[in-house]
Amino acid sequence: VRFHDLGLRQEIMHGIADLGFEYCSPIQGQILPFTLRGHDAIGKAQTGTGKTAAFLITIFNDLLENPVEEERFIGEPRALVIAPTRELVMQIGADAEELGRHTGLRTVTLIGGMDYQKQLNRIGHHVVDLVVATPGRLIDFMTRRDLFLDRVEVLVLDEADRMLDMGFIPQVKRIVRATPPKEFRQTLLFSATFTQDIINLSAQWTREPVKVEI
Ligand code: AMP
Repeated sequence: VRFHDLGLRQEIMHGIADLGFEYCSPIQGQILPFTLRGHDAIGKAQTGTGKTAAFLITIFNDLLENPVEEERFIGEPRALVIAPTRELVMQIGADAEELGRHTGLRTVTLIGGMDYQKQLNRIGHHVVDLVVATPGRLIDFMTRRDLFLDRVEVLVLDEADRMLDMGFIPQVKRIVRATPPKEFRQTLLFSATFTQDIINLSAQWTREPVKVEI
């Protein structure tokens, strides 16, 4: 599948061209035709498969295709990606920066072990469209009422099995509960393995998901 044939917004095609991508990776080719139409998805995929671009393209395309007419408030992102480690969050943030360069959408990354106030300052006085965060730091922002998740339209849980192994699931559950009910959001879940725990969580969090395995 060529990116060209997916009917993506011009702003995103621009970012994809900058990165030099022409053909979808297998997971992108399998998942994008569904997620671009608003379907939930669960993907069994390791890093190196192109899953990051798959969910970022979905997010950016959704947000551009459905502009919000009413006034938006600072600290109310329209999309949220949760990932287990700082390194992963920073990588996703960097990819979002590149892919989203021509979209005019704003991405902020929130990670633990970095100065809270500095991260809050990066949210600053502007509306944020996409937040990429580790669970702990995101909870800090929610607790201090610096971030509200009730306007999240697209939720991505990346490397769900690692979040489980690292003991983040109570935090992730709390985060998911703070977003709109699953009928009112799009949810994408990625995991390298599908243990019974992960299967149970995806059943709880997603709605008739397309299942992709590569
Ligand atoms: P990921 O699995 O998301 O960590 O991505 C693995 C690597 O593949 C990253 O360096 C991406 O920049 C690259 N990549 C993702 N999608 C494509 C594509 N469609 N064509 C070529 N490279 C890609």
